[in-house]
Parts: sequence; structure tokens; C-alpha cells
Amino acid sequence: MDFRLTPEQTQFRDSVLAFSTKHLAVGARVRAHAPDYPWDVAKLMAKQGLLGITLREADGGQGGTLMDAVIAIETVASVCPRSADVVQAGNFGPIRVLGEYGSDLQKKRFLSRLLAGEAVISVGMTEPDAGSAVTDLKTSATPDGDGFRINGSKIFTTHSAYAELILAYVRFAPGVGGIGSVLIDTKSPGVRRGKPSTFMSGEQWAELHFDNVRVAKEMVLLGEGGFKKQIAGFNVERIGNAARSLALGRYAFERARAWALERRQFGRLLAEFQGLQWKFADMKMQLDAAQLLLYRAAANADRGIPSAEETAIAKAYCNRAGFDVANEALQVMGGMGYSQEELLEYCVRRCRGWMIAGGSIEILKNRIAEAIFERSFPQRGA
Ligand SMILES: Cc1cc2nc3c(=O)[nH]c(=O)nc-3n(C[C@H](O)[C@H](O)[C@H](O)COP(=O)(O)OP(=O)(O)OC[C@H]3O[C@@H](n4cnc5c(N)ncnc54)[C@H](O)[C@@H]3O)c2cc1C
Repeated sequence: MDFRLTPEQTQFRDSVLAFSTKHLAVGARVRAHAPDYPWDVAKLMAKQGLLGITLREADGGQGGTLMDAVIAIETVASVCPRSADVVQAGNFGPIRVLGEYGSDLQKKRFLSRLLAGEAVISVGMTEPDAGSAVTDLKTSATPDGDGFRINGSKIFTTHSAYAELILAYVRFAPGVGGIGSVLIDTKSPGVRRGKPSTFMSGEQWAELHFDNVRVAKEMVLLGEGGFKKQIAGFNVERIGNAARSLALGRYAFERARAWALERRQFGRLLAEFQGLQWKFADMKMQLDAAQLLLYRAAANADRGIPSAEETAIAKAYCNRAGFDVANEALQVMGGMGYSQEELLEYCVRRCRGWMIAGGSIEILKNRIAEAIFERSFPQRGA
């Protein structure tokens, strides 16, 4: 067992750090407060090979590992927290599901713009009446000639205000076995965006309505019975989500550490007060524990299918650690931490959302409990 990065991983991290320092350090604060997607960053990252790290070279990706993508998130976020979202969009979640399960036709049609940083794909699972109980989703795919008609709505979809493509979870038939997914071009007739709304992080989202949207059968990603595969793919999204929580917690920690070494009160450096030293010790323990859990989930996923249990543990722990550490680091910086002069308040707001998104902490704990007791605990009432 070796807890160090390999020489190749270290070299990769150093090159991402050099890129981030050169291109992303300036403007980090502005980016965090802009509601739009940072397209300029996406294009730079595409040139640098930071989009599609985990996708096959034959599909236009880099043929790297999930650990590489995790390292990219950590390193980018250490310079510009908001830009870590671009690494997420280009490597984890729906783009990876498309790379993994998409047909040659689907990949040819959509991947090049996504990997060039010119477009993003969203995953639309959540509906007004299907949040944690995602299998209650109602959006229907009804046969229509050699394709389908899609009817329904999605809410809270990340990137929904501007995404070019939606990987939409749909119902082909009743029950969990009837769930699959289709790729919907947002320019298709019948796709309608509702009033824009804003998350606490500042990111915009819009309700997505599908009114009799025609989808050719070639645009079915996973047909009936595809739900389990989709959720396995979703475990990868969770690793990216966990990595960003941890990375933003670490960003806040490092900033507060530097502050404690320069700010004086009562004639002493903040770092010299034991009450604050213990805060730092607690933060450091949380960050290190979270990182080990994250690396276990990512490294083992690179050796096979991501383990649902390890991923749930990593995400729940990193979500909690990222939020708690960012919040404590903000406290160490006092009024300055609470001000938009610094990015700590952004890190707190951003980390808060990941405790809900992509499987809330409570739902992940349910999954962990199932692994502990080696049985499922149906959540439905009688
Ligand atoms: C920042 C952000 C980004 C998101 N991005 C996307 C996206 O890109 N695509 C997408 O499809 N969705 C997205 N979502 C939606 C997200 O997946 C849902 O918010 C989440 O699944 C919870 O659903 P809900 O909000 O309806 O809460 P509910 O399901 O109503 O749950 C409310 C509360 O009850 C708890 N709860 C529910 N059931 C149980 C149970 N059985 N045991 C214990 N506790 C329970 C939940 O943990 C939560 O705390 C995003 C959400 C956020 C906040």
C-alpha cells in the first residue's frame, strides 16, 4: 500500500497547477460571482486536455483515469474554485455516461462540441414529484413511429439554463424496470425552459418542459431496464461531486491558514491562539480523512465498476467535511471571511448544495446502512 501519488500523477498535477496559475488565478473571484457558465475557461481547458480525461481516445478523450480527473478537480479548485465545475462537466456525470454507453452515432454527433468546451450536457432526473424518490419519475417516452414522444418536466437541473443537450431519465413503461434515458437536443420543438431561478451558490437553473418532444430511436441512450446502469454511471458523478466539496474545503482551509499567519490581534498572530490552532487541527483531520475515502473510491472505481458503498461513504463524508471546513475557515477569517472580498463565503454556499445534490447525505446514509446490514430497507410506506 502506497499513499503517495505516482510520479506520473505528480507530473500531471504539476502541469495542471502551472496551467491554473497562469490562466485561472486572475478572475477567480469574478468567476465565482458570475451566474453564467465560464465558457472561456472551458475552451482553455479543452486545449489543455482537461475535458474528456476519462473518455477513450477513440472518442476524442484522453484515455486517463478517474483519479486523474479527481487530481484535476483538486488542483484547479486550489486556484479557482468555480473552474472546478468545468472539470466536472467535462469528465464526470452525463458526459461520462454518454462516453460509456452511447452508440457510435450518438458519440459522433455530440461529443466533439462537448469536448471542445463549446457546449455542455445536463442530466435531468429530478422532477417536481420525484426528488429523492427518483424512480417515481413521470416523464414519459411513448412510441411514435420509429421514435418516441417525450412529455414531462425536470427541475433543479444543473446547466439547464444554457445546456445544448439533456440526458433525460424517462419512463418507457411502469415500474423501475420501465425507466431508461434519451438524449434531447434543447433546440428540438417542444422543449421549453421555464422562468430562470438561482441556487444559493449563484448558479442559474430553469425548469425544463418537454411538450410532445419527438426523439428518434437512435437517441435512446439506455432503453427499458437501463436504470441500474444509469445509476452505476451516476456513481462516477458522485466522485466528482465529492472531489469538489473536498477541494473547496481545502481552498478555504489554505486561505485561512495564510490569514492566521499574517493577521494580528492582541499583538499576536491568530495562529498563536490555541483556540484557533485546535480549529485548524480539526479541519486538517477532516480533510485528510475525506481525501483518503475519496481516493479509495476513485482508485477502486478505476479497477472496475465504482462501488456504490465506497462512493456513498466518500461523497457523504466529503460533502460534510467540505462544508464544515469551509465554514470554520470562514470563522477564522472573521468579517473578511464573511465578505465577498474573499472566496470563503462562496465555498460555504457552494459546498452546501452538494449535501443535497447527487444523492443527499441522508439518502447516501440509507445506502451505507444497507451495506452494513446486507439487506435493503424499502423507504416506501405501506
Ligand atoms: C445544487 C444542486 C444541483 C442539482 N443538480 C441536479 C441535476 O443536475 N440534475 C437533477 O436531476 N437534479 C439535480 N438536483 C436535484 C437533486 O438531485 C435533488 O434536490 C435531490 O435528489 C433531493 O430531492 P428534493 O430536493 O426533491 O428533496 P426531497 O426528496 O423532497 O427530500 C427532502 C429532504 O428529505 C430527505 N429525505 C427524503 N427521503 C428520505 C429518506 N428516505 N430517508 C431519509 N431522508 C430522506 C432528503 O435527504 C432531504 O433532506 C440538484 C440539486 C441541487 C441542490
